[in-house]
Amino acid sequence: MTIAAAEVKEKIGVTGDITKCGVSVDGTWQRRGHSSHHGVVTAISLETRKCLDTEILTNACRQCTRWEIQKGTPSYDIWKARHKCQVNHTGSSGAMEAVGCVRIFSRSILPPRNLQYVKYLGDGDSASFKKVLESNPYGGIDIEKLECARAKKVRNTSSSTKSPKQGSEAGRWERTKWIRSPHR
Ligand SMILES: [Zn+2]
Repeated sequence: MTIAAAEVKEKIGVTGDITKCGVSVDGTWQRRGHSSHHGVVTAISLETRKCLDTEILTNACRQCTRWEIQKGTPSYDIWKARHKCQVNHTGSSGAMEAVGCVRIFSRSILPPRNLQYVKYLGDGDSASFKKVLESNPYGGIDIEKLECARAKKVRNTSSSTKSPKQGSEAGRWERTKWIRSPHR
């Protein structure tokens, strides 16, 4: 992902400490719905379409669950001292995408990336974008929200309308038409 960040700088052709660029962010869960204990958020470059960052979030640990019954025993204390817990998210599964986005934006300006994601392409759900804005990752520098024109069109038409064929020429073309989103 360090190489991907370098490729963004090369493509934009801007030399400097921090490069402004755009990302498409998306969250997915191990299971459908918002009951999954594991989720992942990815940030894909709008310039190179390569992955710049991922954040894996988990709010449950099998070992912790297994050892819970032995809490207070000497063996529990020994295990706990050695245990490297996988839990890095204490909120709900539904909040994972927003939390992951905030983490990804907050570390983008740090080495080795040195990037400012000033264009945010996301789906219609503005919750994650709002959380990113609230976190103010770049000290007041504006972040613009983009939305895929085709996705917006599909969402605004009746449910009987079929989605574009994934990978088709038409689908690829439509997905590149980004518009400014009114959701700010
Ligand atoms: Zn644990």
